Order: sequence, then C-alpha cells, then structure tokens
Amino acid sequence: MRIYLSRPHMSGHEEQRVSEAFASNFVAPLGPQLDAFEASVRDYLGADVHCVGLSSGSAALHLALRIAGVGPGDEVWISSMTFAGGIFPLNYLGATPRFFDLSPDTWTIDTARLSDELAKASTENRLPKAIVPTDLYGQSVDLDVLEDLAAQYDVRLILDSAESLGASYQNGRKAGTGGDAAILSFNGNKIITTSGGGMLVTPHKDWADEARFLATQARDPAPHYEHSTYGYNYRLSNICAAIGLGQMEVLDDRVARRREIFARYEEALSRPGITFMPEPEGQRSTRWLTALTIDTDVVGKSREDIRLMLLEHEIESRPLWKPMHMQPLYDGAPYHGTGFDEGLFRDGLCLPSGSDMLNDQQDEVIDRIKDLLG
Ligand SMILES: *Cc1c(COP(=O)(O)O)cnc(C)c1O
Repeated sequence: MRIYLSRPHMSGHEEQRVSEAFASNFVAPLGPQLDAFEASVRDYLGADVHCVGLSSGSAALHLALRIAGVGPGDEVWISSMTFAGGIFPLNYLGATPRFFDLSPDTWTIDTARLSDELAKASTENRLPKAIVPTDLYGQSVDLDVLEDLAAQYDVRLILDSAESLGASYQNGRKAGTGGDAAILSFNGNKIITTSGGGMLVTPHKDWADEARFLATQARDPAPHYEHSTYGYNYRLSNICAAIGLGQMEVLDDRVARRREIFARYEEALSRPGITFMPEPEGQRSTRWLTALTIDTDVVGKSREDIRLMLLEHEIESRPLWKPMHMQPLYDGAPYHGTGFDEGLFRDGLCLPSGSDMLNDQQDEVIDRIKDLLG
C-alpha cells in the first residue's frame, strides 16, 4: 500500500453532517452548515474575529488583497518560500511581489530584514500595500514583531495561515488570529479538509462584510441584480462546510498526531548532517509536514537519493517549496535574503506526515532511510 505525503483523514462524523445538509436541501453555497462551520472555527480560534467560508485558500487571499486595496502596480512583500496558491492572487490583481528570505532560527519570514527594508522604503516613499508572510509547514510567523511593523508603517498585514490552523504562537494565541486578516485552507492535503475550501479570518467587521459581498458576485441591495463593482463566486459550498463541521471535532487530535509523527522521525533519524525544522520557544507548530534538510557532504547521500529510494518503495516524499524568486514566472523580481531558502529547497525534504499514517508505515519509512544512510 502506497504511503502518502498527507491524505484526507475523516473523523467518521462528516457523512452524517452532509446527510443533514441534504435532508434540509441546503445543497448550495450557503446554508446552516456553513454558518455553523464559520462559528466553529471562530470559537476554536478564541479571538474576536469574523470568519468567512470560501471556496479555497487562494480565493481567501485574493479577497483579502483586494479588500486591502492592492491593485495594479502595487507592491506586496511576501515570503519567497511558499506555495503557488499563496502568491498567484497577486497576479490576479496586477500587483508586484518583493520577496523575502526566511530566518534560519524559525524558518519563517526574516523580520529583521523586513524591518530594515521597510525603514528604507519609508524614507524613499515606496512602502508596500501589504505584507503577506507564510506560516511555513504550520509554524506561526513572529506575530508580535510583524504587527508592530505593520502598525509603525501603516501597511496591511495578511497572514498566510493555510498550513497552520491548530498552531499557536505565544501564550496560547492561535495562528490565524493576527494582522488585518489571515487565510486558511481546507484543501484535501491540509490539517483538516472540506475536500476543498478556505476561509478569511479578520478582526475587522467591515473586511468580513466586504468579503461576503465580493464572494457572492458583488450584488448591491436591490430586488434585481445591481452591480457597482465586480465580484466573484467564491463562497464555500454548504455541503463542503458540513464536512468541515465533522473535521473541526478532531482538529486538535490531528495536530497532536502530526506533532507525534514529527517527534518520531526526529527521534529516529537525528544525526549529524540532518536538520529538522526548528520550533521557536513558546510556539506550537502544527507540524503539517515533517520538514528536514540533508547535508550531503556530512550524510553521504543527497535529498534526491532519499526521495528516489522512497519512491521506488511507493513512499511519497517531496522537496520543500521552491522559493518563488527562483520560479521562471517571477524571474527578475526583487529578493532580499542570503539564499537560506534556496538551501532549504536544495537540501530539504518533506516526509510522509498524514495524521492517518500508521506507526508501522512510519517505521517502514524510517527503516528504509536508515538502511540507505547506513
Ligand atoms: C494550501 C496553501 C494555500 C492555498 O490554499 P488552497 O485552498 O489550495 O487554494 C496558500 N498558501 C499556502 C502556504 C498553502 O499551503
């Protein structure tokens, strides 16, 4: 049986929730299950936020950027090491990215570098419209520092928390509760899934209202269809939200299991030349995927040696995200960093981390890697 990187993992209650939606005929992009799902995420986050269920995390980012006022020619400063869905919405709006490296201590955006560049940009009158840092592999960015910077320079802060629902930052503060907005993803491979879906989480009621308006074709109040701006069909299906309700029941279990998987790998595979993603003091990552780097000179094998060996045995692993400043699409875009993220891409591997993976399966992954490394 193939061992996957990260698969959907149902609780057993999702089908019942979907049946309830069918019974009431709310087979539509709105309905009581969607309302309940939004409320459930808000309660979980335990903060004074508004939650808007959407068709994907990318859709959530698109709306957040548009509401932040990002338009053609505007700069958005963003973690280079991220997933396509966490940046393509800039292109939808004609905005330009400026890329930032990660801090080696946290593997999240290098806030010292960001701070220096904001100071420079401020004196030159070219501040960005928004900053979009990514909670990489489920680890919260440094919210306190980022919120201070955003306030100091009056720049909108939008957090890409697609991989970090269930993580906490400091003092139990949940990832996804910071900035002007955070985006969540319920894609099939994330911590919890609605088959596909996303959410905009914001402390601003007017942002949430605007998101709901834009996500339902920007319909002005009138009996007929009246439009003073253009919108999108971005709401989350009520059926998908029903799946999400079943998933919210087990969110903490899913995070605990992913963390356990990470800890088992770390315990079994730690050796000179293998570096696991760090976790800053006081923080709790979801450990969405177990991410590590292989120093070929020390270990004697490369990331690709391991990945290809695993693949031969029907075990799925994957290089870390390829930084966006290295992508042909963003060739020539400004980048601030030392290339730490380039090194992560060159040497980094994500191991199978699905919360439904059995210990026996993980042991097989571990044993095969140990055999290869000798
Ligand atoms: C998954 C993901 C997204 C996009 O979410 P979708 O729901 O797939 O559109 C955005 N950013 C990051 C970092 C992600 O991992």
